[in-house]
Amino acid sequence: TGELHAEDVNGLTFHMPPCMDQLHTELRNAQHLRHGGRMQYGLFLKGIGLPLEQALLFWQKAFGKHTAEQFNKEYAYNIRHSYGMEGKRTDYTPYSCKGIIMGSTPGPGDHHGCPFRHWPAAKLRDSLSARGLDDFDKEDVMQFVQGHHYQLACTRYFEVTRAMKMGILTETLQGGLVEGGKSRVASQETIEHPNQFFEQSYLLFR
Ligand code: SF4
Repeated sequence: TGELHAEDVNGLTFHMPPCMDQLHTELRNAQHLRHGGRMQYGLFLKGIGLPLEQALLFWQKAFGKHTAEQFNKEYAYNIRHSYGMEGKRTDYTPYSCKGIIMGSTPGPGDHHGCPFRHWPAAKLRDSLSARGLDDFDKEDVMQFVQGHHYQLACTRYFEVTRAMKMGILTETLQGGLVEGGKSRVASQETIEHPNQFFEQSYLLFR
């Protein structure tokens, strides 16, 4: 066990749902995230067990273009605030899928939100292909998206990508590779919360 450290976060991205993985990637690329993204990703990280002092280290390092002084002045307060250490001392909880899906629509330059809800279909399809989904699984996910069942799309995505990681590529060729693996992946609960996605995945590969 033991607590999570700032440097552990990079190694956990496989277990993150697409909404958080995109924020992590964008943060790495731009060394910055706008407020909506910082809140969505920051509270998620808090939810997976990143304590306040490690969160401050994580964000300061991630915002590498900023001096320590700038970081402390512009961002550290908000991070402490979201951990309930400033202002009214509300201990904020990570956003649920419903909160993210129904929440503010990301504008240009924003990376918060739910890819299944907020991305154009072509971008979503490309990203599913990049994750190795074949046409059949991709269209399966897209059917849910087109029916506005975003959390079911995410659940299907979870099942397909976790099964691939376990080496259950096709039933005929590799079905026997992980005994009972496919049913283990498929028996997961519907995704209601990004932290649930993370925990389910983490437990599956423990
Ligand atoms: Fe994230 Fe939930 Fe959307 Fe999945 S359904 S990408 S966990 S907000």
